[in-house]
Amino acid sequence: MDASPRPPNGPGDLAERSLRQVWHPCTQMKQQAKLPLVALSHGEGPWLVDTGGERYLDAISSWWVNLFGHANPRINAALIDQLGRLEHAMLAGFTHEPVVSLSERLSALTGGVLGHAFFASDGASAVEIALKMSFHAWRNQGYSDKREFVCVRNGYHGETLGALAVTDVALFRDAYDPLLRHAHVVASPDARQARDGETAVDVARRAADELDTLLTQREGRIAAVIVEPLVQCAAGMAMHDPEYLRRVRALCDKHGAHMIADEIAVGCGRTGTFFASEQAGIWPDLLTLSKGISGGYLPLSLVLSRDAIYDAFYDDDTARGFLHSHSYTGNPLACRAALATLDIFADDDVLARNAVSAARLTQALAPLADDPRAKHFRHRGMIWAFDADLPDAPGAASAFAKRFYTEARARGVLLRPIGSTVYLMPPYVLDDGTIDWLAAQTLAAFDTTMNATLKQEVSA
Ligand SMILES: *Cc1c(COP(=O)(O)O)cnc(C)c1O
Repeated sequence: MDASPRPPNGPGDLAERSLRQVWHPCTQMKQQAKLPLVALSHGEGPWLVDTGGERYLDAISSWWVNLFGHANPRINAALIDQLGRLEHAMLAGFTHEPVVSLSERLSALTGGVLGHAFFASDGASAVEIALKMSFHAWRNQGYSDKREFVCVRNGYHGETLGALAVTDVALFRDAYDPLLRHAHVVASPDARQARDGETAVDVARRAADELDTLLTQREGRIAAVIVEPLVQCAAGMAMHDPEYLRRVRALCDKHGAHMIADEIAVGCGRTGTFFASEQAGIWPDLLTLSKGISGGYLPLSLVLSRDAIYDAFYDDDTARGFLHSHSYTGNPLACRAALATLDIFADDDVLARNAVSAARLTQALAPLADDPRAKHFRHRGMIWAFDADLPDAPGAASAFAKRFYTEARARGVLLRPIGSTVYLMPPYVLDDGTIDWLAAQTLAAFDTTMNATLKQEVSA
């Protein structure tokens, strides 16, 4: 019997060919067919350029990964050098300079508190590793009942089955719910929940009290609490006071649970310090990094762990070791890109420079703080967000997000709202003119989108 006919591979344009063969991520392909894909030719600093020569400012750093622009000459040079030396080798039984230097430098950035680095390729795998390490470390120490995890409402930690079990985003999770081993979900410290007269610190304390109650109820059963420090990004850039992290740290110590800080999105300077946890003055037991660590160049993730956790596996018995592996663990090219990224942080005093450009962008976006159509204008480090005040109708948020995306794209800016939340997470390389231009386009796209949304409401 003949297989179903395959559409001919005509010359077609790149976007058409993509729709024919590529299954795009986070996409309902039937809807994508209505909105043309952007077919890219190349990148230049913060800009993406399509095959027709149109330019788009990558104001969300290509899903939060890019730090120093596309085709960055310094990262390129490091990769070209590494290509001539070693592209990849297995990391069991072998080692190489890039993976050793990267582990040393990251540990030094934690003041030596997180002394070991375990490598993988994507963020979800790093989360899986942190969960497995936590459970297995407790088991090796004689606490095999500690096998439950706690996560935060609306939290996001990736979409493989283990990571999804500690993710509380209905859109990504509901279809697979029957497959998951459920974690406990506790209140989010999201500062937008402040009641009249309450501060962000009050909200943080209230959320931490709920965690305390749960840890007391499940005493001896919880392996780890996983949090996204300072900003729950996928939840729609929900921000909280560092007090929450101090409380979680203290509660984990009190109840004998590990604290896992998922810094996959908020690490690498995104919130204003290299690690977000620094702003609370605490260190977790396990810390995950990915996204920005390779400068947005190559898939790389890792878990930093305290020596006490590492020591729990150090034994004559093979089965007490952490036997997890991925084919590309510690890939030299990715590690070299990460080293070049850390060099830029050090050589250019990036955190101080970001503070200056962040102040300028905050100032340029200031009209949003007084716009009655925009709620909760908020900012931390190199993340800005606000929520559109939309009519209370089903589908309003997703219609807004699509319309805003299209409007911004037509103006040469890549912005992809999460529901009613518009956010900016640009690379760390915007000059003053580009900052002002980005703010102007964001305000204009919001204005047009809201006018269209409200007009549609009236005519409906
Ligand atoms: C993106 C993200 C992940 C998952 O990383 P992937 O590389 O997409 O698997 C996990 N945690 C957080 C906080 C993230 O933002």
